[in-house]
Amino acid sequence: MKILVLNAGSSTQKSCLYDITGDIPFSPPAPLWEGKVDWSHHQGVAEIQVETATGEKFTEKIATDSQSQVMARLLNTISEGSTKVINQSEIDVVGHRVVHGGKNYRESVVITPEVKNAIANLATLAPAHNPVNLAGIEAVEELLGVTQVAVFDTAFHRNMPDAAAIYPGPYNWVEQDIIRYGFHGISHQYCAERAAEILGKDLQSLRLINCHLGNGCSLAAIKNGCSIDTTMGFTPLDGLMMGSRSGSVDPGILIYLLQQKDCTVEQLYNVLNKASGLNGISGISSDMRQIKAAISQGNERAQLALDIYIHRLRSYIGAMLASLGGLDALVFTAGVGENSPEIRQAACQPFEFLGVKIDSSKNISKPIDKDIATTDSAVRVLVIHTQEDWQIARECYKFV
Ligand code: ADP
Repeated sequence: MKILVLNAGSSTQKSCLYDITGDIPFSPPAPLWEGKVDWSHHQGVAEIQVETATGEKFTEKIATDSQSQVMARLLNTISEGSTKVINQSEIDVVGHRVVHGGKNYRESVVITPEVKNAIANLATLAPAHNPVNLAGIEAVEELLGVTQVAVFDTAFHRNMPDAAAIYPGPYNWVEQDIIRYGFHGISHQYCAERAAEILGKDLQSLRLINCHLGNGCSLAAIKNGCSIDTTMGFTPLDGLMMGSRSGSVDPGILIYLLQQKDCTVEQLYNVLNKASGLNGISGISSDMRQIKAAISQGNERAQLALDIYIHRLRSYIGAMLASLGGLDALVFTAGVGENSPEIRQAACQPFEFLGVKIDSSKNISKPIDKDIATTDSAVRVLVIHTQEDWQIARECYKFV
């Protein structure tokens, strides 16, 4: 079975093509073909990069804003030229990462006109993502005409109990769908299933806290295979301190700033999304590696940024722990979670009194999909390489 996965962000789109024979394995095979489109370097110019499993490469810059034109060019490279791997007609299904599925989509679905309408209507909640997801769906519809599946980043959290999902504002917020949706659901679901596999346990029997620490950061408390609490909320701005996003702040600060004559809503949006977090506090970068490099040169604001990051991470792990009422495994994933032993150590340290113990030599051994807890730890501590594209492919497999 040939599964094409499209993962569109606000200025990039990553795609990969998997070829699966027989039952779908848990671990991803190497993709036959991988493509990336990047619009972020020059406005109105799409940079296409393609690489195949055999190492053939292709790059091209196209001056256009038309996503369908770029998609057509990208998909052509699957079946034409030096990067040809198959004929386009061999593609069985296309899976899309769709950021917002609103409150009704609790799992992945085959895309129908009704689903497309829902994705379009949810654009007000995810303006940077849902419209590009929809454009990708429509381009594939025109070019390939195969079954398409929407895999929502919010779906994994949609069975959260009301007490965790509803904000304590006025009740009419609920009626206006202003609730905690949670994000990173594709990653949280993949890591939960992978954690169960690594531990040799049934996911239904496990209580997990997943720490997805990338540029965006969120935690999920997972019980019986479902997310029962999470730190991102109505938008991906809530919760943990992130690379350039603030995470939770006193809403009174926002009212105070808006009351200042020189602060517009747009400025506030930019401050909270781009000029906050590690970037805002350090004044250096949103990239954890650069924060660490600055700390090693004695930069005090970089140190403060890291201290706040860790303080917030520990506080929210505590909050997730309370929602779960116990813990079998703590999982670290994404750029920081997978690559920073210091942050894993610092996150676990306050929970030593509960018997959480990291084996420091395992922690620094660049673990991937490994348990780094000591044998006598009361809680397993796992480092898992998140595989969102593969999770999307796994979801597609269920439908074909
Ligand atoms: P995204 O959320 O965009 O998918 P990633 O999961 O790639 O992001 O994570 C990006 C973050 O991971 C950056 O802050 C980067 O500095 C951090 N990171 C990557 N490698 C390391 C490392 N070796 N040590 C610490 N942080 C790292």
